[in-house]
Amino acid sequence: MFPEMGASEKEVLRELEEKTREDLTFDSGKILGSMCTYPHPLAVKVVMRYIDRNLGDPGLHVGSQKIEKEAVDMLANLLGLEKGYGHIVSGGTEANILAVRAMRNLAGIEKPELILPESAHFSFIKAAEMLGVKLVWAELNDDYTVNVKDVEEKITDRTIGIVGIAGSTGLGVVDDIPALSDLALDYGLPLHVDAAFGGFVIPFAKALGYDLPDFDFHLKGVKSITIDPHKMGMVPIPAGGIIFREKKFLDSISVLAPYLAGGKIRQATITGTRPGANALAVWAMIKHLGFEGYKEVVREKMELARWFASELKKIPGIYLIREPVLNIVSFGSEKLEDLEEELKARGWGISAHRGYIRIVVMPHVRKEHLEAFLVDLRSIMAI
Ligand code: PLP
Repeated sequence: MFPEMGASEKEVLRELEEKTREDLTFDSGKILGSMCTYPHPLAVKVVMRYIDRNLGDPGLHVGSQKIEKEAVDMLANLLGLEKGYGHIVSGGTEANILAVRAMRNLAGIEKPELILPESAHFSFIKAAEMLGVKLVWAELNDDYTVNVKDVEEKITDRTIGIVGIAGSTGLGVVDDIPALSDLALDYGLPLHVDAAFGGFVIPFAKALGYDLPDFDFHLKGVKSITIDPHKMGMVPIPAGGIIFREKKFLDSISVLAPYLAGGKIRQATITGTRPGANALAVWAMIKHLGFEGYKEVVREKMELARWFASELKKIPGIYLIREPVLNIVSFGSEKLEDLEEELKARGWGISAHRGYIRIVVMPHVRKEHLEAFLVDLRSIMAI
């Protein structure tokens, strides 16, 4: 009920504290199945300091808009471009919707179709529904990468583009993006790479010597990339990223926003009023950690994921779905449903989906957390 009279700040905060007691927190070490993490302290500071900035009205917040552009350029640079076109958005979902919107608008085809791997994130289902695009699902190979031959067979006159995944939601698998890029070039189609998770992992992992396919704008067929700073970028939610290779993609989704302070501004994002603070936090984190800083985070979590996978393999009745590609380890068991229920009962923030439990070794996940999890897992499996 809407209260007649206001309560004191103290009372409101006390009630919130009580009501959020059932939330799992990242610092508890119990959240092992999330792609989000506790944000970096600098990013928190930036968000608090610039909490009032609105990128939906850049005429008011001219400086913030310039910073967003610089953040976009730094992300584009990480992904192999000197200059990119895009935005810091609310997350991977919005970024993917914008990419599909651009592909649809540029194609201008009736009954448009988009080809995407069966492993693609459900945000594409939302995009398809909202944009009137038919999704054509391509099969996966035994290693859970998309079958490029099947993608090719599914191309028709109505195809508006192809999606490849660099760091799939369930298994962290990276598709054969070079082959998809060649295919896209052969057929004159744009390739969108969903690197919502992998964007802040793969460049650093490659620099560390991990053998991963190329996935970014170095490949000419790649026209857009989703990369989320609120995942491995350690920026507070909401912070997603959409980067286009060419301005025409952004132009194709920009609408006139006539009443704003900046005059005749065009807006491409789904959200109108949107947080400037988070875009500033993206900028601040990239400046603060730099390539070497992020590389160190990724080094630690990739190694931890591999250690965890080797420990899982020693537990009778547990099997890996596949060797980890990034810092995601997914495992199965014959009694998966019981296992999920029991782990949840013991307070673990995990979930079973598509026949396995996914552990995402995020920055907040430490070895002692995984050790405690293994103790519980072993004891449940021994029952
Ligand atoms: N794309 C991929 C590959 C993801 O893993 C996710 C989220 O897990 C998304 C897109 C959607 O991101 P968000 O939840 O930030 O909208």
